[in-house]
Amino acid sequence: MDPIRRFETNLTEPAKSTWSGFWGKIKILAPFLWPKKSCMLQIVVILCFVLLGLGRVINLFVPIFTKWIVNSLSPEEGEPARVRWDLILYYVLLKFLQGGGVGSMGLLNNLRTFLWIKVQQYTEREIEVKLLAHLHSLSLRWHLNRKTGEVLRIMDRGTESINGLLNVFIFNILPTLIDIFIAITYLIITFDIYFGIVVFATMVLYIVATISVTEWRTKYQRQMNLADNKAKAKSVDSLLNFETVKYYGNEEYEVQTFRDALLDFQKSEFKSIITLNILNTAQNVIINSGLLIGSLLCVYKIVETKELTVGDYVLFSSYIVQLYGPLNFFGMYYRSLQGNFVDMENLFDLLKQQPEVVDVKDARNLSIKEGTVEFKNVSFAYNTEPILKNISFRVPAGKTLALVGPSGSGKSTIIRLLFRFYNIQSGNIFVDDEDIEKVTQESLRKGIGVVPQDTVLFNNTIKYNILYGRLNAAETDVIEAARGADIHEKILTFTDGYETVVGERGLRLSGGEKQRVAIARTLLKAPKIVLLDEATSALDTQTERNIQESLNKMCSNKTTIIVAHRLSTIVHADEILVIKDGCIVERGKHEILVGLGGIYAAMWQQQLTSKDEQLKMNEVCDGS
Ligand code: ATP
Repeated sequence: MDPIRRFETNLTEPAKSTWSGFWGKIKILAPFLWPKKSCMLQIVVILCFVLLGLGRVINLFVPIFTKWIVNSLSPEEGEPARVRWDLILYYVLLKFLQGGGVGSMGLLNNLRTFLWIKVQQYTEREIEVKLLAHLHSLSLRWHLNRKTGEVLRIMDRGTESINGLLNVFIFNILPTLIDIFIAITYLIITFDIYFGIVVFATMVLYIVATISVTEWRTKYQRQMNLADNKAKAKSVDSLLNFETVKYYGNEEYEVQTFRDALLDFQKSEFKSIITLNILNTAQNVIINSGLLIGSLLCVYKIVETKELTVGDYVLFSSYIVQLYGPLNFFGMYYRSLQGNFVDMENLFDLLKQQPEVVDVKDARNLSIKEGTVEFKNVSFAYNTEPILKNISFRVPAGKTLALVGPSGSGKSTIIRLLFRFYNIQSGNIFVDDEDIEKVTQESLRKGIGVVPQDTVLFNNTIKYNILYGRLNAAETDVIEAARGADIHEKILTFTDGYETVVGERGLRLSGGEKQRVAIARTLLKAPKIVLLDEATSALDTQTERNIQESLNKMCSNKTTIIVAHRLSTIVHADEILVIKDGCIVERGKHEILVGLGGIYAAMWQQQLTSKDEQLKMNEVCDGS
C-alpha cells in the first residue's frame, strides 16, 4: 500500500491492541529517554531513581513508627510509661519526606520533580526536533497529501504522551507496584500468611479489573481522538481557506460542518466518560471489600486469639490506607498510560513514514559550475496515468529554454523533476553531465533557483522572506535584490518598510508584490540555473515589462528554463519546446516555430489577436 494511504488508514482504523508492538515502540523511544549527550543529565536521572528507592523505604517505615508510638502509649504491665518524643520526631521527619496522604507533596517528591524538569525538557526537545526534521525529510507527494491541522495535533499530543508515559510509568505505576510487593512481604513476615493473601487478592483483583475494563474502553478513547483530530483539522482547514469561504459566502456551511464534527466527537466522549464511571465503581467495590476483610481479621486476632496488639491494628490500617491511596490513582495512571500509548501510535506512524525520494548511498555533493541541463528519454507518472512521455532536451550552459503548451500538459512537472521532488520511472536527468539521482538532493537544490507560479511567503517580514534566499546575506544585498526585482521603492512606501509583516502565506501583499518578493529572493540566492514557472503571470503588462528587464539581467549568463503562457515573454529563448499531453510536439526558435504553422503558430496568432483586441478596447475607453 502506498505510504500516504497507509498513514491515513492508520489514522482512521482502530488498531488491535494498545500494547501491540510494545517493544518496537520502546525501541523507537529509547534514544529520546536516556540523555546520551549530557553527563550531567545522566547523573540527574540516576539521582531521581535513588530518591524513588528512598521513597519506598520511607513508605514502609511510616506505619511501623505509628505502631511503635501506639505501643509506647500503652506499655506492657510493669513497664513505666515514657514520653517517646524521639519516636514522634522520627515519625514527623518521615512524614515530612513522604508528604501528604498520597505521597505527592513530600520533600522527596518535590525534589525529584524539580530534578526531572531538565530531563523532561531534554526528551521534549529531542522528540520535537527529530519530528520536524523527519517531516522536512519527507517528499513533496507526502506534503501535498497531508492535513496540516491533523499533523500538528499528532505532534502536540504525541510529544505530551511520551513525557506522560515516562512520568506515569516510572514515578507512579512502578513505585505503586513495588510498594504493594513490599507490603505483602512485610505483612506475611510480621503478621501471618492470611493478611498477605487478603492484600494480594485485593490488589490482583483490582489490577485485573482495572486493566480489563480500561482495555475495553480503549476503543471509545481512540474514537474520541480520531473525531477530535477531524474536528481540529476541519477548523484549521476552513481558517486557512477563509478567503475562499468568503468568496463563496459559505461561512454558515463551514460552521455547520464543524458543528457536525464536534457532535461526532462528543458522542465518543460521552461513551468514554460513562465507561469511566463503571470502572471507578468496580474499583471502589474491590478495594473496600479488601479493607473490610483485612480489618475484621485483624480485630479478630486482637480480641479473640490475642496474637496481635492494638499497635498492630493501627499499623495494619494505616499501612492499608497508605497503600490504597496511590492505588485509587492506579486506574487513572493505567488509563493515562494507555491513553499515552494511543496518542503515541499516531506519532509513530508519522515517524515511520519513509521519504519517497532518498539520496543513494555515497551520493556526491554537486557543485554546479557550468549549469547545463539535460533530460534523456524521461518518462514520468504521478500515479498510473503517464504525465511525461520520453522527453529529451539539452540546455547548454547560459542558454534559455522555454516550455509552452496547453494547461496540464506537464510543463511544471518538468521543473519539479529537475528539483528531484519525485523519482522518474525511466530515463535520466543530468545537471553538468551528472545524473541527479547520484548526487545529494540538498546540493542539487542549492544550485537551482526558482520563481514559482504560485508564490507562498512565510508569515514574517518582507526582509525575512527575501533573506530566505541566502540566510547569511548582508542587508545591502537584500536591498540590491529588491531593487533588481523592482520592489524596493514599493517597500519603502509601506509604514514599516522592510519590516512589514506579510501575513499568513503572504496574503497581505498583492499577487504581483508577492511574485516580486519571490524574484528578489531568487536574485539573492544567485543560482547557476534559474527556473521561471510563469514568474510574471500575476503582473500587469507595465510591471511585467519592468520585471522582465530584471529577470533578463538575473538570467544573463545563467541557464534558464521558462514556463510561460504569454509567448511575448519567451520570444528571445534559444529553444522553445511545445509540450502537449506529455510529449514534445514542436521545438525550435520562435521564428522557426511561427513559420511551421503548427500549434505554436496558432497560439502566437491567438495571443496577437487578443492583444489587438485589448488595444482597441483601450482606444475605446480613452475616447469615451
Ligand atoms: P499549467 O500550465 O496549467 O500550470 P502544466 O503544464 O504546468 O499546467 P503540470 O502542473 O505539470 O501542468 O501538471 C501535469 C498533469 O499532472 C496535470 O494533469 C495535473 O493534474 C497532474 N498533476 C500535477 N501534480 C500532480 C500531483 N501532485 N499528483 C497527481 N497529479 C498531478
